[in-house]
Amino acid sequence: MTYTKESVDVVLIGGGIMSATLGAMLTELQPEWDIRVYERLDYVARESSDPWNNAGTGHAALCELNYSPADANGDVDITKAININEQFHVSRQFWSYLIDEGVITDPSTFINQVPHMSYGRGEKGRDYIRKRYETMVRNPLFADMEYTDDPATQADWLPLMFENRGPGQVNGVSRFRTGTDVDFGSLTRQLLTHMGTKGTQIRTGHAVTDLNRTADGWRVSVKDSTAADAFDVNARFVFIGGGGGALHLLQKSGIAEGRGYGGFPVSGLFLRTSRPELVERHHAKVYGQAAFGAPPMSVPHLDTRVVNGKRYLMFGPYAGFSPKFLKSGRITDLPFSVRGNNLPVMLNVAKDNFDLVKYLVGELASSKKDRYEMLAEFTPEVDPGAWEFITAGQRVQVMKREGKKGGVLGFGTELISAADGSIAALLGASPGASTAAPIMLNLLATCFPQQYTGWEPKLKAMVPSLGRKLHEDETLLTELSEYTARTLQLIKDEPAV
Ligand SMILES: Cc1cc2nc3c(=O)[nH]c(=O)nc-3n(C[C@H](O)[C@H](O)[C@H](O)COP(=O)(O)OP(=O)(O)OC[C@H]3O[C@@H](n4cnc5c(N)ncnc54)[C@H](O)[C@@H]3O)c2cc1C
Repeated sequence: MTYTKESVDVVLIGGGIMSATLGAMLTELQPEWDIRVYERLDYVARESSDPWNNAGTGHAALCELNYSPADANGDVDITKAININEQFHVSRQFWSYLIDEGVITDPSTFINQVPHMSYGRGEKGRDYIRKRYETMVRNPLFADMEYTDDPATQADWLPLMFENRGPGQVNGVSRFRTGTDVDFGSLTRQLLTHMGTKGTQIRTGHAVTDLNRTADGWRVSVKDSTAADAFDVNARFVFIGGGGGALHLLQKSGIAEGRGYGGFPVSGLFLRTSRPELVERHHAKVYGQAAFGAPPMSVPHLDTRVVNGKRYLMFGPYAGFSPKFLKSGRITDLPFSVRGNNLPVMLNVAKDNFDLVKYLVGELASSKKDRYEMLAEFTPEVDPGAWEFITAGQRVQVMKREGKKGGVLGFGTELISAADGSIAALLGASPGASTAAPIMLNLLATCFPQQYTGWEPKLKAMVPSLGRKLHEDETLLTELSEYTARTLQLIKDEPAV
């Protein structure tokens, strides 16, 4: 039997980093608000925010080459890189505030300093990395970037990758020492636990099944899998933070702003090792260049990971195709998301992205041997016995209407909200968790225009650079970079490699 249980101020759907970040902000801004979190699984942070379902890169555009493309003349455009880096500074400030306030006591439980490096092979690859470095280092955000094409220095920076290579190899490598590895699962759990101590009810094993408008908000239908029960909750504001599950719920809400959106799921695998003889010879996140037709998030990278205080190496992702929208989703997820209003968009995307489809099919068909060969492009010493394959989270890339093109595939995140600000949904996956804080600040401004001005002093305490661009204010950039590095303990002696 379904019955209306109660009325609350806010319902957050999904127990991932996005709901947790928004919830933590609202808990600070409006401590008296009644907030509910509903998570369909028995535990929070088990989908994309789990540390082994994502790569844990604190995306700041220091190493990811897709944010700094070169044109036909070899000139590098860093507009996107600047934007991503600015956003990561916002996240660093918010996380520092959480440490200062005692919400999180030990930063190393979720963030650790790991140098970010980029790697280009052959003369073409080297020239691009060098040109990218020369362009970026002139911007204050990237002034600490270093570059080398000297094999001895490369072997010193990255022994596992470069020590035992044969002579005559040409490579370019850039380095930014204060990059980060982030355990978004740990961060999510700590934020939700804090919200719980402040009165938020976190209900795991509770799936939201429907959303209907009411006179002053939304009626949220919830299924409790443990008690085999179903009930409705009224909420003034709803955030659909269901990760890959967000599209279905957005469609159920029926809001006009959600029409025309589709989801393109990409599955993936990583290789992982904890063998000390490998882990101790590599301390970096090293991003390479994408294969032809590969989506930007599929660029290969060899990463140091720090999870529960232990160091690992992870390599991948190897992309593939599965119609599921969540790792724990159903194979009907993709077909059940097709509507009259998004079908033309989806068909257009299929027509225009044949290279991507070919790439994904090729990845699906690739053997273990092919996959180890990809790893061998990073480190010549590959012992398959030392590595295990793990399944990554599902990414659901956004397909949306765009001008004359009819429909495009987007690789970023998309915040969609109703005109009256009573509901918002987050679609897409990149740069993802690293930018949860700026995304949620944007949501607060969009959905709570009446409260926002009153919230500003508190928001400036959380994010001192609010409303300002750090690359246009070098004094503030230095001050805040030093403050967040100190608070998050990101300037440590690097472990010997
Ligand atoms: C392979 C891969 C690599 C990535 N690498 C990085 C990276 O290096 N750096 C980075 O910053 N980001 C990365 N990302 C992106 C990042 O993981 C995501 O942006 C982020 O975790 C999304 O958080 P979320 O809270 O929206 O979703 P999730 O963490 O997936 O949480 C959504 C939750 O909602 C629940 N849910 C869904 N439907 C319902 C429902 N109907 N009712 C109740 N609950 C529901 C789900 O069970 C889930 O727990 C990566 C993602 C993938 C897949």
